[in-house]
Amino acid sequence: MNHFLNEARALLGDAHVLTPTQADLSAYVTDWRGKFTGTPLAVLRPADTAQVAAAVKLCAAHGLAIVPQGGNTGMCGGATPDGSGRQVVLSLTRLNRVRAVDPLNNTMTVEAGCVLQTLQELAAEHDRLFPLSLGAEGSCQIGGNIATNAGGVQVLRYGNTRDLVLGLEVVLADGQVLNLLRALRKDNTGYDLKHLFIGAEGTLGIITAAVLKLFPAPHASAVAFAALKTPQQALQLLGLMRGALGDRFTAFELMSDASVAMVRQHFPGTPALFADAHPWQVLMQATDPGAGDGAQAALDASFQAALEQALEQGVIDDVVIATSVAQAEELWAVRENISEAQQHDGANIKHDIAVPVSSVAAFIAEVQPLLHAAYAGVRPIVYGHLGDGNLHFNVSRPVGWSTPDWQAETDRVNAIVLDVVARYQGSFSAEHGMGQLKNHEMALYKTPLEINVMRRVKQALDPQGLMNPGKLLP
Ligand SMILES: Cc1cc2nc3c(=O)[nH]c(=O)nc-3n(C[C@H](O)[C@H](O)[C@H](O)COP(=O)(O)OP(=O)(O)OC[C@H]3O[C@@H](n4cnc5c(N)ncnc54)[C@H](O)[C@@H]3O)c2cc1C
Repeated sequence: MNHFLNEARALLGDAHVLTPTQADLSAYVTDWRGKFTGTPLAVLRPADTAQVAAAVKLCAAHGLAIVPQGGNTGMCGGATPDGSGRQVVLSLTRLNRVRAVDPLNNTMTVEAGCVLQTLQELAAEHDRLFPLSLGAEGSCQIGGNIATNAGGVQVLRYGNTRDLVLGLEVVLADGQVLNLLRALRKDNTGYDLKHLFIGAEGTLGIITAAVLKLFPAPHASAVAFAALKTPQQALQLLGLMRGALGDRFTAFELMSDASVAMVRQHFPGTPALFADAHPWQVLMQATDPGAGDGAQAALDASFQAALEQALEQGVIDDVVIATSVAQAEELWAVRENISEAQQHDGANIKHDIAVPVSSVAAFIAEVQPLLHAAYAGVRPIVYGHLGDGNLHFNVSRPVGWSTPDWQAETDRVNAIVLDVVARYQGSFSAEHGMGQLKNHEMALYKTPLEINVMRRVKQALDPQGLMNPGKLLP
């Protein structure tokens, strides 16, 4: 392996070939949840597309598998190498240049290592919106977002990452650079190859740059937190708000009381929003691109009128409407801190599921009693993007259980939750992908033919099986 390391150093420079004996690799070898850890042969940190291509060719020549890595915030261990000491982590962090911003075309062309939040800020500087938004936005990278087809909190209005990508540049498994960096909104010239790489979790190629869609920047915004009794009422509220606000309605996040309580426990500054306890709460947002006080006043009026109607109809029991940007951020923090609060709380068995929006309430009503019947004192922490039918249905260990004992129940808990998902024709991984956490579930919940077609695509693009092996496919 010394040959490989020497050639890699000649290619990338000594400082950008990190090995376990010479550097602290902890940031690269363990996933965000601390669930998976590995031992790579090396971490390579190329600076540009040409270096990525050369590094991939070098790895292919030595028969070394590559694990692409962005911000390493993925939930399924997709960016974590195995323990063989023969995999190479390829970090995209240094590919962080903005190649172009075209406000007239409403696009920006950026490299894969750009941190999501910097792209949101860049769009805002041009009076535009890049709408992808998620709790990890301060550290996840756009390449990772594209590779996982990330969802987030504005899918309701703007779609998943897939809907925000117009073009891609990809280094293929043999080191060739596939240039699909077209900034076109119409292009029916054969198979739309970019979609193969979106959501492929680095198993088909390495994304090095992308053309992203921009939207008019919102200048008016309204945020509220509502308390209600049931998920069915949350669905009624969703219909009511969408009816009143149309496309201006951008986010609708459901949280069980237990989720909010966990945030308050682990983030002590979190305000108590309601005097009484309410089993379910919803965070919602509406925005409008119109400028000036008039647009804000008009949005506030429609937003408040819709919420008053919901109160009058008994759809919601109480509501807090943000009266300042600071308060809006405080309300959003409650939702955004749930993942981290659960991390502090300890072992939980995570599910990131989707069912048709109209079935969410029935799904929750069906699965919760099954869990309680199987495990006395179990604590389902249910929250998520209700507007997309996507719930993070995380099952925290019953009080008194040890972490290892609870983790040993993973398959049984998964079967309880995911069998119900399957009955609703749902998805067992709505937005977090497969990685090495959920790939075995594919064999349980997808048809053999669907898996076979995926394998044929993989074989065609990565015949040596060197692109992120052991991930995504069972
Ligand atoms: C607090 C928190 C909140 C989150 N909220 C959400 C949410 O609301 N919605 C959501 O969808 N996700 C969410 N996530 C999960 C995570 O942030 C996303 O999956 C994100 O898109 C991963 O980006 P990353 O740069 O960290 O990728 P990584 O974790 O580094 O990699 C993820 C996968 O993509 C591959 N990959 C990375 N970069 C490339 C590349 N350039 N080319 C090819 N393959 C690549 C990796 O090999 C791996 O398989 C959250 C995570 C955290 C920690």
